[in-house]
Amino acid sequence: SKRLVIKVGTSSLVLPNTEINLRAIDQLAFTLTSLRQLGYEVILVSSGAIGVGMKVLGLDKRPETIAKQQAVAAIGQSELIKIYTQRFAAYYQQSAQVLLTRDVIDFPTSRQNVINTFEELLNMGVIPIVNENDSVSVDELDHLTKFGDNDQLSAIVCSLAQADLLLMLSDIDGFYDDNPQTNPEAQLFSHISEITTTMEEAAGGKGSEFGTGGMMSKLKAAKRVLDNQSQMILASGKDPAILFDILEGKTIGTLFS
Ligand code: ADP
Repeated sequence: SKRLVIKVGTSSLVLPNTEINLRAIDQLAFTLTSLRQLGYEVILVSSGAIGVGMKVLGLDKRPETIAKQQAVAAIGQSELIKIYTQRFAAYYQQSAQVLLTRDVIDFPTSRQNVINTFEELLNMGVIPIVNENDSVSVDELDHLTKFGDNDQLSAIVCSLAQADLLLMLSDIDGFYDDNPQTNPEAQLFSHISEITTTMEEAAGGKGSEFGTGGMMSKLKAAKRVLDNQSQMILASGKDPAILFDILEGKTIGTLFS
């Protein structure tokens, strides 16, 4: 059977008006449950804790300090898991929460414990829902751009679980030779087997808000996946049903293999 890691970003889970995107979460629960019934082993890596926490607290912008952001994330994480648990339960699918820090790969015992946990959960037919343990690990640099971006974490999970495919669902439908938000002529890459410096420059986010660009982080994740002889597909997270099309072999998004 095929083992999949599916990563969804905050933009797929929280609407621009800060409402929680219940429709997206429900469709995700439905789709992932269906995939499991089709025989796939499924691990979900989900962001969104701070977004949901802000909604719970009625905040309209991120708190200034990292400590406050961590507190908001802790509130949001349990709420997010509550919603996932309910939605998965509606489809009679058991889920589980796994909170990790990225440095787990540097500690052999912790690393093995995580591997064992995934193995047992998947054997039981459970869908693990993974997020970074934001109360423990905070990468200051990441916080200048985006709180709790799980691109790297999803690549790490992919390697720990020795998954066949990382499906990264984003607010964009693939990787282009330039930022398509600023350059309408930008061309989509449908297949990338090696990440070149030209590509890194294209992801460098000339047009991105903070100059680092969310795409750079996705390329970094793709590089890790390729180094680990696995595969990654970057595609739009607008409609989770896209996963069915991708797994039926339709050419969608950007395949890194
Ligand atoms: P996510 O929804 O996964 O959090 P990000 O916002 O981190 O996604 O990254 C996606 C964004 O990266 C796109 O919406 C786009 O504005 C920007 N971007 C910059 N360079 C590129 C590129 N070469 N190809 C595609 N998107 C790019």
